[in-house]
Amino acid sequence: MNTLAINGGPPVRTTPYKTWPHHDDAERKLLSEVLESDRWWSSQGTKVHEFERRWGEFHGTDRAVAVTNGSHAIDVALLALGIGAGDEVIVPAWTFFATAAAVLMVNAIPVLVDVDPATGCIDPTAAEAAITDRTAAIIAVHIAGHPADMDRLTALCQQRGIALVEDCAHAHGSRWNGQMVGTFGDAGTYSFQASKLMTGGEGGAIVSKRTDVLERARSYGDCGRQPGEWFYAHFALGGNYRMSEWQGAVLLAQLDRFEDQARTRDANSELLNEQLARIPGVHPQARDPRCDRQGNYCYVVRIEADEFGADRESVRLALGAEGIPLTMSYPPIHRLDVFREPHGFAPRWRSRDGMQDFAQLSLPTTERLADTTLWFTTAVLMGTREDALDVVAAVEKVQSHADELRSNR
Ligand SMILES: *Cc1c(COP(=O)(O)O)cnc(C)c1O
Repeated sequence: MNTLAINGGPPVRTTPYKTWPHHDDAERKLLSEVLESDRWWSSQGTKVHEFERRWGEFHGTDRAVAVTNGSHAIDVALLALGIGAGDEVIVPAWTFFATAAAVLMVNAIPVLVDVDPATGCIDPTAAEAAITDRTAAIIAVHIAGHPADMDRLTALCQQRGIALVEDCAHAHGSRWNGQMVGTFGDAGTYSFQASKLMTGGEGGAIVSKRTDVLERARSYGDCGRQPGEWFYAHFALGGNYRMSEWQGAVLLAQLDRFEDQARTRDANSELLNEQLARIPGVHPQARDPRCDRQGNYCYVVRIEADEFGADRESVRLALGAEGIPLTMSYPPIHRLDVFREPHGFAPRWRSRDGMQDFAQLSLPTTERLADTTLWFTTAVLMGTREDALDVVAAVEKVQSHADELRSNR
């Protein structure tokens, strides 16, 4: 086989993958409708309203609440659930910054727990062990679109009388036992940021089967207003988290395309699961049989350096040179500067009494996954079968030339 591209050989991919996100005339038409309507904000327009109705319908719930972005969606969901000072919220340590930051944003205390080694999602046993009499909620994150164990988490939260929030930012369209993610707990939150599976550039939404939660989320997201009341009457300490009509217009077009894209993504991700597992040292994220559709914001594999013959960083650089779009994992939450005193806390928080000292935390599975996984971007799943198989060809090539990488170091 040829020399690795990183050492000057010809790359596996000579044509780049089609960039993400996709769009066509549908977005253009809806955007110009907004432009010509002169109603550019949701309070007067129709697009956000229609998107909220359809996103709710997609989940089999009442109208969703659309917001500015996925970070604010978590903040607003926690507010709507009445979570605040004195409360603890259990969060997996392997997630994006915003999941843990949201807890502090509402002045509650995040309690980090480890994740399941097979799926990378919150470990229900660890979550249960972290429950105290101050625990108000658990936030489950459906990593790379694979649902957390919703059977165990819903049972646990019901038994202990605590709220369950699902951060579905990676998991548009994911299902567990035939049920849409976002509808298992008390609230589900979405991001429509540009790398996510549906996007308005930025954007977010809250879904819930509880109408009281949706009503409160709507009020907190709209400056504490109440339906039917005067515009300048404010009843709750919320903010302006409204989605604009431009985002609503683009998201309507994206939603029309979603089912087709989800089928393509799912077929290619099953293909990679089967093919990549044959390569020494390559361990795709496990797929539980109860996950009957996986959103796959990204496609995650763990590189076991001893078996592969090279470490994650060398492999990542080599695959990038072969033309495969990928990133590395999020760092663990407890390694982020902002959460280590005294960096991010003053002056917003005077005291974090009772909070774990993140600098002293050891959460071995999270740390291992953060240090050993590669995240292929969703672009590799959105082409043909041959496009997806190029990932396999590139990983095979890099693995069989692992000695070249070792001599590079
Ligand atoms: C993207 C993301 C968010 C935040 O969404 P934004 O729209 O970027 O604010 C939250 N949680 C997870 C797991 C994410 O991937």
